[in-house]
Amino acid sequence: MPMDNFDSPFLYNRPKIDTESLKKAIVSKLIFSIGRSPQEASQRDWLNATLSAVRDFVTEGWITTARQARAEDTRRVYYLSMEFLIGRSLSNAMIAEGLYETVQTALAELDVDLETIIEKEVDPGLGNGGLGRLAACFMDSIATLNLPGMGYGIRYEYGMFRQKIENGQQVECPDAWLEKGAPWEFMRPSKKYKVAFGGHIYFEDKKCIWSPQDCVTALAYDQMIPGYENNSAATLRLWAAHGGESFDLADFNRGDHLGAVEERSSKKNLSRVLYPDDSTWNGRELRLRQEYFLVAASLQDIIRRHKRTHKTIEDLADKVAIHLNDTHPTLAIPELMRILVDEEGLEWENAWDMTRRIFSYTCHTLMSEALETWPVEMMANILPRHLQIIFDINDHFLEYVRTYITTDNDFISRVSLIEEGYQRKVRMGWLSVVGSHKVNGVAAIHSDLMVSSTFADFARIYPERFTNVTNGITPRRWLAVANPKLAALFDQYIGHQWRTDLSQIKQLSQFASESAFKRAIADIKFENKVKLANYVKKTLDIDLDPRALFDVQVKRIHEYKRQILNVLHIIARYQAMLENPEKEWQPRVFILAGKAASAYYAAKQTIHLINDVANIINNDERLKGRLKLVFIPNYSVSLAQLIIPAADISEQISLAGTEASGTSNMKFALNGALTLGTLDGANVEILDNVGEEHIFIFGNTVEQVNALRQKGYNPAEYYQQDEQLNRVIGALVAGKFSPEDPMRYTNLTQNLQYHDYYQSLADFRSYVDAQAKVDEKYKNRDKWIDSTIQNIINMGFFSSDRTIMEYADNIWKVKPLSTNK
Ligand SMILES: *Cc1c(COP(=O)(O)O)cnc(C)c1O
Repeated sequence: MPMDNFDSPFLYNRPKIDTESLKKAIVSKLIFSIGRSPQEASQRDWLNATLSAVRDFVTEGWITTARQARAEDTRRVYYLSMEFLIGRSLSNAMIAEGLYETVQTALAELDVDLETIIEKEVDPGLGNGGLGRLAACFMDSIATLNLPGMGYGIRYEYGMFRQKIENGQQVECPDAWLEKGAPWEFMRPSKKYKVAFGGHIYFEDKKCIWSPQDCVTALAYDQMIPGYENNSAATLRLWAAHGGESFDLADFNRGDHLGAVEERSSKKNLSRVLYPDDSTWNGRELRLRQEYFLVAASLQDIIRRHKRTHKTIEDLADKVAIHLNDTHPTLAIPELMRILVDEEGLEWENAWDMTRRIFSYTCHTLMSEALETWPVEMMANILPRHLQIIFDINDHFLEYVRTYITTDNDFISRVSLIEEGYQRKVRMGWLSVVGSHKVNGVAAIHSDLMVSSTFADFARIYPERFTNVTNGITPRRWLAVANPKLAALFDQYIGHQWRTDLSQIKQLSQFASESAFKRAIADIKFENKVKLANYVKKTLDIDLDPRALFDVQVKRIHEYKRQILNVLHIIARYQAMLENPEKEWQPRVFILAGKAASAYYAAKQTIHLINDVANIINNDERLKGRLKLVFIPNYSVSLAQLIIPAADISEQISLAGTEASGTSNMKFALNGALTLGTLDGANVEILDNVGEEHIFIFGNTVEQVNALRQKGYNPAEYYQQDEQLNRVIGALVAGKFSPEDPMRYTNLTQNLQYHDYYQSLADFRSYVDAQAKVDEKYKNRDKWIDSTIQNIINMGFFSSDRTIMEYADNIWKVKPLSTNK
């Protein structure tokens, strides 16, 4: 194989980028790949033909990137994640390849509307929320920075459920995203690995032999992730379990989302469905099997690739970095030890040294309910050899701890990888820390808390191991694709370099006080609001006035994110408006969206309440349309791209100390919304960057939250002393928003009155006051636009390119491939 020659084999075949050749390319795809004539083609046929034509442009760079990485043979990074929420491919790829306008014109000449077919593309929901979307932004940055890296995940046949709202309640429908074909992926029939489960282990002399009970085949499907205008593309390799029987959709529709799947959970069902829990840990056996499936297939692939070009496994740690996105792929640590010791015959110490140099781990939470632990008994049944290796790692580790830190037994049992008790458990977070050379949190405040709380004991043992890498978002998808008019405006003022170097967006400051620039920003925001209002009219038949202030909270529904606090304020505002209808109320539209985990009762009740309150408010004529509330169903990446550019206010109101980073806060600010938020996650760094005049910060700090909890938080104190809050709670207790079923929210209200674990009532007053400041500021539209601009131009830090370069330099030690191909 010629490896010293990077000349593109496609150089002479590549279709020229002009309208005529594109028309030919698309029509030829339509006829020869899809098998349709232009006369009888449906919109989906046109979409698939266009996708296929655009894909050809990406493929060339993709193949040369892979070839170059092989030839340069520098260290590579493999990003392991159970979730990748990549969003639709077409617009992103057209923008990356500089093809958007040409494709648009070519299609128009064929009488096809590009915008219409873009909306037809499926949005693969292979993730729950922030964690999966982060992995997707990282892949985009890895491709754009031309880093030798690759993602590994699972090709779930059914992604995140589709959410419908019926009678105000969430209904879950299966997401059969593959049924319409996946024209963007490449099946790799030659990349197949066996993944074994169960059975028993025995020793022959000192050598451990695992005799598994059954095995599944993992088959690779590749997604190309185009780099931005750099003729490169990264690979996201997703594993599908081969074979398997069909899936009972009827069970699914009856609402038993997971039951339907697990019922038939033979081993072949492994890649059937994504677990729909976000930020909560779920101890189901099928999930453990999925996690091992990802790990086992990916490691075989990584080692095969290494051996193809290296004589020895001994230099694996010089050539390979593996990153664990949360603890979900942490079985990779014992799996690599198993391969090195059992299969390659390395000494334990040597293998362990390599393993730790290879792995790094990102912690995404502080909440105890999110920390993964697996019952020892379950692991013994499914992965007996791995359990044995984890015991051995633990023995070595505890021996080290005893030698280097003179301490009590309590400390030892706290840091042990095995939690003792009625049911013994493997602590996956501890295993990740012990088996990695670096552990990072995802925002400054989160990394500090990680070291002082969750991993405090480990920070004593390994102080150098812990670090921070603040999350980021890709400006390609979250500005260029999602807000094309704003992107074009910026191109016009400062050129288009900001797309690959977001720090350049600061250059817009020289125009920040020019009235033409300000007017353009305001006009684009208005157009985006009209576009969203049209969508809401079309899909929900609710009228929204685009001149109103759009106040948006879109994210998973979770108690810690406190959608309930948002609702309490909306009710307070509603009551105040009815009391004083003649006052000049700033017209407001409250928009919420987000999915609740299928088994999460409190979250589902919250959705129901939002819809009940919306129903009352939107039909109350006394408000004269000055207050509206909409819950937009089925939040997804494509909906985020529509909603976020239309927001004036970005609600980031989690209880301080609970949101690790948040990334939608960054997307909103980059699109000119002002943050209304607590001092939590990356909000803290957004405040530092935009300055306090351009953000609304409210609520208790982490220290105050902890102090309250310490002294015994009593929510009653708050509503008894705050007349307005008292009236809001009173309305809920009286069942005012569900007159046909007044007891509907008894649980929810009692929970608020007597427990309120996330201290919504403690922050209510300060939140309502902050909301009044929002109204006040919006009156002076000129000042508001100034703040909008200050938000946008100070977002340079929050590009995922910056984030990925920090990982590459400080953790992975990988360097971009040379640019001269
Ligand atoms: C960005 C994003 C998230 C994360 O939102 P947070 O508010 O940071 O929790 C979740 N889902 C989708 C579809 C996103 O695009």
